[in-house]
Amino acid sequence: MNESSSSAPASQASDELEAMLARALGRAAPEPATADTASASALPPAAPVPPEAQRCGYIAIVGKPNVGKSTLLNALVGHKISITSRKAQTTRHRITGIRTEGPTQFVFVDTPGFQTRHGNALNRALNKTVLGAVTDVDLILFVVEAGRFDLADAKVLALLPPGVPVILVANKLDRVHRRVEIAPWLRSMQERHPFAEFFPMSAKQPRDVQRLLALCERYLPPQPWFYDPDDLTDRSERFLAGELVREKLFRLTGDELPYTSTVVVDRFEHEGSLRRIAATIVVERDSHKGMVIGEGGERLKRIGTEARQELERLWGGKVFLELWVKVRSGWSDDEARVRAYGYE
Ligand code: GDP
Ligand code: MG
Repeated sequence: MNESSSSAPASQASDELEAMLARALGRAAPEPATADTASASALPPAAPVPPEAQRCGYIAIVGKPNVGKSTLLNALVGHKISITSRKAQTTRHRITGIRTEGPTQFVFVDTPGFQTRHGNALNRALNKTVLGAVTDVDLILFVVEAGRFDLADAKVLALLPPGVPVILVANKLDRVHRRVEIAPWLRSMQERHPFAEFFPMSAKQPRDVQRLLALCERYLPPQPWFYDPDDLTDRSERFLAGELVREKLFRLTGDELPYTSTVVVDRFEHEGSLRRIAATIVVERDSHKGMVIGEGGERLKRIGTEARQELERLWGGKVFLELWVKVRSGWSDDEARVRAYGYE
């Protein structure tokens, strides 16, 4: 169906496809480390890499909400750049995670999952972010849960631009108990899109992540690095602070707190090695405010403590974090507010 519009040759021989599947299925089983794995995990050489020997490119991570895109980004970068939680709608921005390994600089782009359920202003802004992120990349990792493919996955797949190679990442393989069922499923996935590769894996399994990194490397063109080799993201400390608070808010409140809550960083100051931060959690109703604050302020205190500790780990310095809660009814339906809160 898609053959004519894709990067893979339309006449891809079926034995070639079978070989690709066999490789993919081989990866599902435990396997000794390969030469690729070794090169990707090798320490960067002590000598600087001259620009003419450098390799660099963008890799977009896309998929419906909750399939593990942000978990995968963090694993690929080796640092927590993008927040994750069991709730859908956690990621709301285009976030890059940068990893420089030997001669290669990988620039991963995490995206919000494509929202198909609610048509409000927040979700329209999120979808625009996803579409913006997939144009002009060298490679797309299309993430689904291994063994599953539904309408929401299909909608994201239909959005991918022709001409960019796509790797099907079948994530959460650790949750699949009957591995034999993965073979027919992968075969059925072949018919949905001319994927460049099939990659069953678990984002929580470091060995799988190393192998995926080595595979991605082959798709990046030789060109000078875009970022400093020490950079981990193009996002500011102020942005990361707001995100970490939002992650704790999402994780420490149950399903009773609707996803339409957000965090605004009001103040971010450096005082020597101390970072002084004030942030406001914005909710839509008075009853939500109560949920965030909790009995005797306990929950808000915990959100603050956990966010502060994680920021201190990330930056290796002391953090003073002050949190407020404010009610702004209807913000997620209001285009101007959605923009004002930082969602392009
Ligand atoms: P996103 O919405 O696609 O960015 O998904 P997240 O990265 O926020 O992950 C959603 C949930 O899936 C979190 O609870 C993760 O811990 C979990 N998750 C991600 N990858 C894996 C995996 O490989 N195996 C298992 N069992 N859980 C995973
Ligand atoms: Mg995410």
